[in-house]
Amino acid sequence: CAKALGKARYEVFDSKMHEGAALLLELETALRHALLKQEEFRLDYQPIISLTTGKIIGFEALIRWYHPERGLISPEDFIPLAEETGMIVSIGQWVLYEACQQMHSWHQQFPTSLPLTISVNFSGKQITQPDVFQEVKYILQQTGLEPSCLKLEITETLLMDNFELATTVLSQLTTLNVELHMDDFGTGYSSLSYLHRLPIKTIKIDRSFVTSIGSRGENLEIIRAIVTLAHNLNMSVTAEGIETVEQLAQLKALQCDYGQGYFFLPPMGCAEVEILLAANLCGKNFLKR
Ligand code: C2E
Ligand code: MG
Ligand code: MG
Ligand code: MG
Repeated sequence: CAKALGKARYEVFDSKMHEGAALLLELETALRHALLKQEEFRLDYQPIISLTTGKIIGFEALIRWYHPERGLISPEDFIPLAEETGMIVSIGQWVLYEACQQMHSWHQQFPTSLPLTISVNFSGKQITQPDVFQEVKYILQQTGLEPSCLKLEITETLLMDNFELATTVLSQLTTLNVELHMDDFGTGYSSLSYLHRLPIKTIKIDRSFVTSIGSRGENLEIIRAIVTLAHNLNMSVTAEGIETVEQLAQLKALQCDYGQGYFFLPPMGCAEVEILLAANLCGKNFLKR
């Protein structure tokens, strides 16, 4: 990327790279603009299903950016840039506030026997902000969301950059009664040795493992090992990206606790979620087709 280019490498800065750097800069400018205006971001919500009861237990909030000219930009295309530039801190604050407020409002509009949970992706950059504890506490107070309904999803890679600080902050956050979930498990550092030292409640198995169920036997063994490890450490397991009935059957057989994926439901806008909640579909068994 543009930042990494030194003077000595100027000669390799050909037109193609120039184009790339220009695009990146344009994206960064547009992102700053979007952040100021706060009108182009939306959250989608993807249901998380209990693989024991088949019922929706909660939703994961996923950010969407509607660029006025370029249309929808995937978080995969702008979150890394937001992380690199530090903009993720403000974006993350917005996401957390919006998601907590939305879930609190759904709790009031559509009460369920077990209150629905909201999972929010939390970047490593956010965790190392000095005021992160106060920030989360403040947002919970302001929105009125029951803290035990909030799940913060963190990734191992970003955590490992500053393990000592991260451990302290994560323990602090759990005193608020929020849960910490380990996202994209298996894709970053080999995490087994430090997992028990972190106050993690749930491990989310990365979609790449789930996708290859059926085609590559060894991945099934990896999933089995992750589930066993998690259960031995008193953690639960969520599988990401379940798309087929075969994947679901295998994950159930391996005692995986929760699942998320297009097989059940895709991420949805809040209007769609409200249709679902109004129809009382939280009582439906999504394991049955
Ligand atoms: P993630 O947290 O692992 O979220 C799961 C991603 O998998 C989502 O992609 C979701 O739409 C997608 N997905 C769910 N089920 C299926 C399936 O059955 N098949 C396939 N192919 N995909 C499925 P999305 O929404 O594009 O988000 C991508 C990533 O961007 C997220 O991965 C997360 O790391 C990041 N992200 C999204 N929103 C936020 C945010 O508010 N803050 C931060 N820091 N990161 C975010
Ligand atoms: Mg996530
Ligand atoms: Mg994930
Ligand atoms: Mg992922």
